Amino acid sequence: MFVDYSGEPLIQVKNLCKYFHVGRNATLKAVDNMSFNIYKGETVSLVGESGCGKSTTGRCMIRLYEPTSGQVIYDGKDITKLTKEEQKEFTKRVQMIFQNPYASLNPRMTVKEIVGEGLKVHGLAQNEIDQRVQELLETVGLNKDHMSRFPHEFSGGQRQRIGIARALAVNPEFIICDEPISALDVSIQAQVINMLNELQDNLGLTYLFIAHDLSVVKYISERVVVMYLGTMVEMAETEELYGNTLHPYTKALLSAIPEADPKRAKENKRIPIKGEITSPINPKNCCRFAGRCQYATERCHNEMPELREVKPGHLVACHLMDEQFPK
Ligand code: SF4
Repeated sequence: MFVDYSGEPLIQVKNLCKYFHVGRNATLKAVDNMSFNIYKGETVSLVGESGCGKSTTGRCMIRLYEPTSGQVIYDGKDITKLTKEEQKEFTKRVQMIFQNPYASLNPRMTVKEIVGEGLKVHGLAQNEIDQRVQELLETVGLNKDHMSRFPHEFSGGQRQRIGIARALAVNPEFIICDEPISALDVSIQAQVINMLNELQDNLGLTYLFIAHDLSVVKYISERVVVMYLGTMVEMAETEELYGNTLHPYTKALLSAIPEADPKRAKENKRIPIKGEITSPINPKNCCRFAGRCQYATERCHNEMPELREVKPGHLVACHLMDEQFPK
């Protein structure tokens, strides 16, 4: 989809922090100083291991969590300062598709009730809801015969389609896709991705796509943000990120993608990430990847690298960049 980068971004995330107090003098820094933009019609992917703060970032962006500090500006307005009316409008404009289609649908509700729930909240009459639910099911490749059935009667892929229909019900413009395919069989994953792509083209949607590895996002994103333990470590346009990877953590993530071609698989060297992920509770003010990075120096253990633009649109937080791209 064509993305116009000349205007204002649809969403601006500015120095976003979300901390949780988890005990006396213990603070879990789930999201620590994240800043990035998403333009209308764009897909930005947020990638990193589980527990790195991706979903928390997404939830702060649609106000499911209140940020500890920093701002999320949506269409020019700070989402924490909306009036009651604006907040109601905002909840229609932004939606979320959840990771687990088995857990995210109420087993006691029919498909009609699940998909129509948001429409009811927004005051539509029952006959309008029925009509709209039928249209939505057709949009996601299901049909009206499915309306009176319950979630357990569907496969994982079909359940995720129901979740997508539910998200589309109120005509949103921005959708957070929180690992929408990771619980699905590989054969179904491509179908869901293709459907999300088609919906984006047809409905002009903007996506934040959350994923724990870099294998799928290459095909769906304009830009990719890589996160490690609450912080941004690299951000670039997709082609640049895959073709000119700079951060050691991103390199390791990329090397972990299985290669289908046996010849290329032999040439690919997997870069192991040694050790365990460090605790995000009261983290030291140093590179969060230092304990697992094969290039770590003393400086890395004592000083947090700043996220800086080393090439147009390519941002990296790593002390190694000071030699490669002197300031
Ligand atoms: Fe590795 Fe140091 Fe770069 Fe962190 S700052 S990624 S520890 S080289």
